[in-house]
Amino acid sequence: MEIQYENILLQVLMVLFPIVLFLTMFNTPLTTRKKKVTLGIICAITMSLSLAVPIYIREGIFIDLRMVPWYIAFMYGGNVVGIFVTIFFIIVRFCIGGLGMITAFTVLIAFTGIIQIFRKAYMNWVLRKKIAFSVIFISLASVSLIVVGFILFQGQVLSTTKLVTYSFFILESAIVTWLVVFLIESHNEKLQLFQDIQRTEKLNVVGQLAASVAHEIRNPMTSVRGFIQLLSNSKNLSDEEKQYIHICLEELDRANSIIGDYLSLGRDPSSSDDDKVDVTLEIKRAINTLSSYTNLKNVEVSFEQANPAYILGNSGRLQQLFVNLIKNGIEAVSDNGRIVITIKQTDDDVVVSITDNGVGMEQKQIDNLGLPFYSTKEKGTGLGLMVCLRIVKDLGGTMSVQSTEGLGTTFTIKFPALNIFS
Ligand code: ADP
Ligand code: MG
Repeated sequence: MEIQYENILLQVLMVLFPIVLFLTMFNTPLTTRKKKVTLGIICAITMSLSLAVPIYIREGIFIDLRMVPWYIAFMYGGNVVGIFVTIFFIIVRFCIGGLGMITAFTVLIAFTGIIQIFRKAYMNWVLRKKIAFSVIFISLASVSLIVVGFILFQGQVLSTTKLVTYSFFILESAIVTWLVVFLIESHNEKLQLFQDIQRTEKLNVVGQLAASVAHEIRNPMTSVRGFIQLLSNSKNLSDEEKQYIHICLEELDRANSIIGDYLSLGRDPSSSDDDKVDVTLEIKRAINTLSSYTNLKNVEVSFEQANPAYILGNSGRLQQLFVNLIKNGIEAVSDNGRIVITIKQTDDDVVVSITDNGVGMEQKQIDNLGLPFYSTKEKGTGLGLMVCLRIVKDLGGTMSVQSTEGLGTTFTIKFPALNIFS
């Protein structure tokens, strides 16, 4: 007996070819049923092809890569497909006949049992673990084919050529399994990505629609607000009615601010008309805007900076950013509330920090920051920080937060500085 290199190589081709063909042909996600049927047929064909060019050990006994398609049928097609391929194999193998049949059936049945134990868990494993398991499983199955064959037919002499052939066969099985699992998994990943893209595309359209609806709702809301404001000036209103009107106005403002935040999230960053803006001036403006709120809450806001610090940005959006952050600070502090804002300019960056001595946050809260609708406040929208993050990102900056429960919070924003000489 010689080492049968040609057959070893041919087998690799026979197993890989139908699977590669299948993966390239089915580029769109199939329905589960169709996919299973196709996979079953492909695996059955692959198995027959591999049976057609086996490595002969002696009369009626031969080894081949049949375990690979059989394994794929069980793992990726489920039990029905697996059993179909097994029955198909048994029939074909029975027709070929020979002593090796007993070995083949024994190993197949034993390993079907093992597959059942791992099949469910397999689906949730990461790629590496899947490949490792598959390679070990198929190598073991290949070794078993040889060992069982050896035990059943004790007349065999274990020559060097046979030993080399066996080793090649096991190595071949392991490599082909690795390739096949890798190909199938990366194909599935590609399909998944494709579906994700389609879904986001749809969401995008819905998002744009929602944005235009939100925008349109603003106009009637403005007129409602105006009329309610007029009503509130009426003289013959009871205190209770005045209270109701006050709540109406408050809630309308809240709705308006949610819509505003939402709209600024959907905004296309490339459409912004960026200009040279002075961050110092913007912070001062934001503090002014919030002055009535700070007085009401009795919070002291300190900011001292005389020199302008220029960045490339949009005044309105910077206002939105600073107002949101300072407002969060004001809402976090209680008695003796203090908010300190500093600004530092280096060659490359403008760094703004906003520190409050408020309630602070625990790690879990910090992790949730910036998620839509994450708010710990009764009347919070949980959109503020999300908008802030978006604005900072659009300006090419970064935002970080440091917080200690009970002591306070510091938000640090780093913008790329505008070189005034450029
Ligand atoms: P909202 O202010 O409407 O709740 P935000 O997105 O602005 O929404 O903030 C989300 C959450 O982050 C707040 O509810 C609060 O729990 C927490 N948070 C934000 N800023 C601070 C801060 N300076 N100190 C403590 N907690 C804060
Ligand atoms: Mg807020």
